[in-house]
Amino acid sequence: MVTIVQFHSIRTCGGMGGGGPGFGEAGVGGVCEAGGMPESPEVQALAEEVGARLAGRALADADVLEFRVQKTRARPLQTLVGDRVAAVTRHGKLLDLAFASGAHLVVSLGRHGWARWGGADAGEVTDAGEATGASNATDAAGPTGPAEPPPPALAALAFDDGATLELTDAGGWISLGCWVVDDPREVPAVAKLGPDPADPAFTREDFDRAFGARRKQVKAVLQEQESIAGIGNAYSDEILHAARVSPVVHAAALADAERDGLFAATVEVIRDAIAARRGIRIAALKAAKVAAMRVHGRAGEPCPRCGDTIRDFTFASTTAQYCPTCQTGGEVLPLREASAD
Ligand SMILES: [Zn+2]
Repeated sequence: MVTIVQFHSIRTCGGMGGGGPGFGEAGVGGVCEAGGMPESPEVQALAEEVGARLAGRALADADVLEFRVQKTRARPLQTLVGDRVAAVTRHGKLLDLAFASGAHLVVSLGRHGWARWGGADAGEVTDAGEATGASNATDAAGPTGPAEPPPPALAALAFDDGATLELTDAGGWISLGCWVVDDPREVPAVAKLGPDPADPAFTREDFDRAFGARRKQVKAVLQEQESIAGIGNAYSDEILHAARVSPVVHAAALADAERDGLFAATVEVIRDAIAARRGIRIAALKAAKVAAMRVHGRAGEPCPRCGDTIRDFTFASTTAQYCPTCQTGGEVLPLREASAD
């Protein structure tokens, strides 16, 4: 039997849709917003830690506490019991546990999904990563107020050496999903993925194919998994700031020099972040991400390059950040006011 932290209800938080100024990803702190959506650098570090811990271990038990996370109803997680983990990899923002039988457990972390060690490892990881503040980065998660209660485990995987991997979701709605498949490309979110800028094979041609002559805002293209894999709200802000490109300019309107800079920034920001996050324990990764952001989540703070004040703007259903001086020639982008408080 898998021992996990039981949950009573899915907590809500000021994220998707209901957010406003200060309530975007990496905004005012708390479990829900700290770090926001996992993006490729954090998922890469997660895959590496889980792989290092679980490779060669056999799954002893699988407990799905929230049936909605199990996307392959005809092939539940329990069908993997007895199978050994062969390797753990990443596809875009999705985690892939490959088993010796050839089966794959693909986990989509969605907007607020994450993983943690349970069972005998639970205290160790929590102490090392969060409770003692072993990483300076954890301070950035919220110096004000007591820590939020941990998010509920929606599924738990127990292994033959006592390790337990719990899959969590801190969102107001469940975005975590699990698929048991023979080929990861059976998962639609994997099948549709475009090239990954962390891949050494990622080329300028891949980048130009994604951006092309499209009449779509560059921040949207960067976050479009079909075009470029692994990037979300936070790293797209960082890439655009590094490249000094407005988030709302259409891809087709980019000058050649801007396109050059955006390609270089996309590769550099993602690869640097992957290198920087490598080896950070999974309990501390989201805080490390927040601490590393130069513009994302830093509205009101000075731009590290020019000193102008970083601003919020409304993008799609969320809030994002930019520097007017560096990115928009001083133009202030629209910010939708919060509907509540
Ligand atoms: Zn600036």
